[in-house]
Amino acid sequence: MDVSALLTKYDMPVPRYTSYPTAVHFNHNVSQNEYANWLGALSTDKPVSLYVHIPFCHILCHYCGCHTKVVNSYNPVKAYVQTLVKEIHLVGKKMTGTVSISQMHFGGGSPNLLEAEDLKDILDALKQYFSFDENTAIALEADPRLLDEKKIDGLIQNGVTRISLGVQDFDPKVQEAVNRIQPFKKIKECVQSLRNAGIEQLNFDLMIGLPLQTVKSIEKNVELAVSLSPDRFAVFAYAHVPWMKKQQKLLEKYPMPETRERFDMVACVKRGLEASGYQAIGIDHFAKKEDSLFQHLEHKTLRRNFQGYTDDQAESIISFGLSSITSFRGAYVQNTTDAPTYRSSIEAGAFPITRGVVLGDEDIVRRSVIEQIMCGYKTDVSVYPELQQTLKEFQEDGLIDIDGSCISITKEGWPFARIVASSFDGYFEPKEGQHARAV
Ligand code: SF4
Repeated sequence: MDVSALLTKYDMPVPRYTSYPTAVHFNHNVSQNEYANWLGALSTDKPVSLYVHIPFCHILCHYCGCHTKVVNSYNPVKAYVQTLVKEIHLVGKKMTGTVSISQMHFGGGSPNLLEAEDLKDILDALKQYFSFDENTAIALEADPRLLDEKKIDGLIQNGVTRISLGVQDFDPKVQEAVNRIQPFKKIKECVQSLRNAGIEQLNFDLMIGLPLQTVKSIEKNVELAVSLSPDRFAVFAYAHVPWMKKQQKLLEKYPMPETRERFDMVACVKRGLEASGYQAIGIDHFAKKEDSLFQHLEHKTLRRNFQGYTDDQAESIISFGLSSITSFRGAYVQNTTDAPTYRSSIEAGAFPITRGVVLGDEDIVRRSVIEQIMCGYKTDVSVYPELQQTLKEFQEDGLIDIDGSCISITKEGWPFARIVASSFDGYFEPKEGQHARAV
């Protein structure tokens, strides 16, 4: 089947599968006691990962789909950190011993809005319950517009080892349209300052599908990005959901790339990055050959979680902050997205949890199958005889090869991996408004 026909048939809203079940299928049935019991059952000799959400930014990007709020002064951030520290103590006190850490991630929002002393307060609180050492990887998402020498110094003092820079697009016209002005020169200076300060591990986030972008402008973005030689790229497709994110309406006055052009942009990024020595990792990440993401891909130990593709092997991620999601082997638990409720729950000594889901045995098997497709492009399907017809159709359309009970995604099927994965999703119903489109 040619690309146009594939796009017509398969460009539908599907999950990105950073969890299974996906967050839209979380319910409200997780109790305070259950959460406390799961925390209490964490083993001290099994490392967990930590996530802290900082839901503040200094300017709103008009494409933003994150849980964040624009603040004009530091007071709300300071107050939030104080509540966050209380949440860490609430959670930590339910654990039965000091648990070791696999990785730690600060996401947002713009975590580099934090003053060094507040970052330290958060880490000091975590260190009372989780064992960090000098090798603990601490990653932080950073807005380059908020990075100066003093900020970088604060990150170093606090042991940050990896920075994900929100680059998105270098074209001044696109930057103006999306309300995110950050000239190439500024990004280049940030990269140099981070490297001079000793932060060697750098990721760039890029976006495709933004207003005014063209395949040609994307080609230029890739060229400029590669010239700064980050270790990894995450390339996200813009999801236009103005009914959920009202500011995205402001983008509608600009020409927006259509499905075919978005598809060509993704192909252009892949071509450009591969030609520059980066390896494709799953559906939307790229890494240098010597990077641990590629090593894990090679060793079939690549994982996928809320941060995207990861080398992190921890079974549980304990998360803190507004809207953050904790995952255990058999359950997900999400904090409220409502700031007053978050604060008042913690002040009352209750977890600020609002919803979650407990996984049955079948969920755990399906999650593993979906993760194998998303990470390694192949899986064994012998336990799904009812999908024979669907899989045959994928095969006829050139998306997969079938070898006995194994399926593998073809090169042509690569952009449609989420579609193939969704056929193993026991909850999925193709509905507009719940997920980003497949392409
Ligand atoms: S910096 Fe990130 S989180 Fe903040 S508004 Fe822009 S896209 Fe949203």
